[in-house]
Amino acid sequence: MGKLTGKTALVTGSSRGIGRATALRLAREGALVAVHCSSNGEAAGDTVAAIEKDGGRAFPVSAELGVPGDVHKLFLSLERELKVRTGTTTLDILVNNAGVMGGVNPEDLTPEKFDRLFAVNAKAPYFLVQRALDNLPDGGRIINISSGLTRVANPQEVAYAMTKGAIDQLTLHFAKHLGPRGITVNSVGPGITDNGTPVFDDPQAVAAMAGYSVFNRVGEARDIADVVAFLASDDSRWITGSYLDASGGTLLG
Ligand code: NDP
Repeated sequence: MGKLTGKTALVTGSSRGIGRATALRLAREGALVAVHCSSNGEAAGDTVAAIEKDGGRAFPVSAELGVPGDVHKLFLSLERELKVRTGTTTLDILVNNAGVMGGVNPEDLTPEKFDRLFAVNAKAPYFLVQRALDNLPDGGRIINISSGLTRVANPQEVAYAMTKGAIDQLTLHFAKHLGPRGITVNSVGPGITDNGTPVFDDPQAVAAMAGYSVFNRVGEARDIADVVAFLASDDSRWITGSYLDASGGTLLG
């Protein structure tokens, strides 16, 4: 029996990258996983197929985050699918993983791009947590994917890092608020992590990025997924409101 047998989980942005590895890992522990994507239904379907091939249970849900009505749309299909499969709308584990990066010189960032970053990376997670409060049972889990860039400077990602700072505040304050219900709320801060984008096929770029970690390699998506699985399990019951550095020692300087 896995550590999450009988649990249900929503992993936002699990069609690809870290979210996909996380969905696979939680399913391997026995959770029924809602695999969420924005629009890439084919990739979400691939994640579901990989989970099922591995003997796990999952279903896709699609909703663009950062637009009006986003959370309502997501929960409409989430609750419908949960009800069909479990007879209830209980959601034990919420992983706020979906996110977008900036990659713009501070001088060139537009108000529109700034608003978009905050809408997807900070506002949507807040209202997903708020909406999930009725579904989360006592002892539930909320895990928010932050970033090592909340601790080291990268001027091209100033607005993105600001959104992840907001995620850490979401974690801190909701951890206090939900403590009486035994619900833990934690942030995980990845360093540079191979999410399957083309830059990770370039050996020179990978060597340069690897140099940031004391282990001299870039992170694999499963390095983060394993940390999330720990936080989702009962093993982490005494940890809440924390920021778990999952950067391979990048922050050690
Ligand atoms: P990817 O870019 O590989 O995947 C992003 C996922 O989020 C996809 O599933 C995508 O769905 C979904 N998504 C993106 N925008 C939206 C949106 N507006 N609405 C709904 N879903 C959306 O991400 P990573 O795996 O690289 O990153 C995952 C998380 O980890 C992010 O929060 C990121 O900030 C954080 N992180 C990543 C690091 C890295 O080096 N990779 C380092 C530090 C933090 P779709 O497929 O439909 O587009």
